[in-house]
Amino acid sequence: MTAYRELMEFERTTCALAQVAGRLGWDQETVMPRAAAPQRAEEAEAMEQVLHARRTDPRIGAWLSRIDEGALDAVGRANLRHIRRRYERATRVPARLAGEIARVTSEAQVLWAEARAGDDFAAFAPVLARIVELKREEAAALCAGGAFGGDPYDALLDDYEPGATGAGLAEMFASLRPRLVALRDRVLGAAHQPAPLTGRFDEAAQLALTARLAERFGYDLAHGRIDRAVHPFSSGSGLDVRITTRTDPDDPFGAVYSTIHETGHAVYEQKIDRAFLLTPLGQGVSMGVHESQSRIFENQLARSRPFTGWLMGEMARAFGPLSTGEDAEAFFGAVNRVYPGFIRTEADEVQYNLHVLMRFDLEREMIAGTLAAKDLEEAWNARFEADFGVRVDRASNGCLQDVHWSVGLFGYFPTYTLGNVYAGCLYRAMRDDLPELDAALAAGDTAPALGWLAERVQRHGGLYEPAVLIERATGAAPGVGPLLDYLEEKFARIYRL
Ligand code: ZN
Repeated sequence: MTAYRELMEFERTTCALAQVAGRLGWDQETVMPRAAAPQRAEEAEAMEQVLHARRTDPRIGAWLSRIDEGALDAVGRANLRHIRRRYERATRVPARLAGEIARVTSEAQVLWAEARAGDDFAAFAPVLARIVELKREEAAALCAGGAFGGDPYDALLDDYEPGATGAGLAEMFASLRPRLVALRDRVLGAAHQPAPLTGRFDEAAQLALTARLAERFGYDLAHGRIDRAVHPFSSGSGLDVRITTRTDPDDPFGAVYSTIHETGHAVYEQKIDRAFLLTPLGQGVSMGVHESQSRIFENQLARSRPFTGWLMGEMARAFGPLSTGEDAEAFFGAVNRVYPGFIRTEADEVQYNLHVLMRFDLEREMIAGTLAAKDLEEAWNARFEADFGVRVDRASNGCLQDVHWSVGLFGYFPTYTLGNVYAGCLYRAMRDDLPELDAALAAGDTAPALGWLAERVQRHGGLYEPAVLIERATGAAPGVGPLLDYLEEKFARIYRL
């Protein structure tokens, strides 16, 4: 098995370099001196060139052809599956095209930020058209030889959610939508509307509270750290997994729940079997599974009635008397309030997926060539009004709100909703297995839930394909039923439906 050993040694160095590149990105968003940006761009590009050269190194193809797969164990075969998939993706896309996508999307981010600040979609449309054109070209190259059934969207989606298809997701989302819309309409029309939490909340106290919450949700600070950044994110795998947070003096829930969300991503990475460190199995298996961990931490666990009862006491200790008084039902309502809004990242649990479904349909049309980039704003606004009953007032509240398309992330959006669907499945199975769950959460004790997730999902890293992993964890193929049942039950209670 020398070919396998040589390949894995080569991969280990590539994985290590990828971690270094990721840490440069973390540095840029947190502590990098502001005027260092031009040099950092060159440094990041140099790292990308090194990584690209390694990922397309012809020796990988030679090793792959010499390895006797039948002689490998499950871990070995899973490693090969990841390596082969990435090698095929990297080598099918011509270097000229990969370089141009990197260059155009890097320029586009500046143009997007300016267009968004000026609410000027027309200023962004030409570069978006170019990005769509390049992504269609990339997809066509990935489909060479009949791969992905020749479907360009599936070729792009596979990078984020291996094994998923646009048609499969469209079917799943079609069964999600009617009950979500019905629930949203009942909630917004309900006679009882919970009051928001109001007041001013000391930002140092917010940081102290969110650090305690991250630890309570299993975040290991010996292998991580929390810093401030404009947009919360998590970064890194294995022994060094970092998260960021932000505070708003008027809205402590923003800091609390974005921190718990990122903690879900980070704990997933920290709990992966250490035997997989710096191998292709040593990181979260897909964006959808990753999001299932952050969402179940944030929503099913931390926004639950039992846990919010405990959190209310912690917040009163941190900030003084709360506007909701000592009424745990009122606090639970304030945490989970549903209200109309334009922005996906601020959306509540009921409406969040409707924002994603809309983006999924629009980006599929752009990649299929049936929606021209220049017509995106019009299509977006029409669709938003049809789905949400509100006219978009400006582009920054509409099609310019998300960074994804400007950086070439087509096929990424649906993984957010897939993550919610997976979280619904996991939560149902967890409740069946853990009768003590609610009592523990009411005491602020996350250990039963965390232990269950680590054992069923997190420790496996990239060992299983995403849908297989969820099915093994829950005993059933993933479906939308558990998420919808959970949402309907929870919001019927809050809104007294
Ligand atoms: Zn996330």
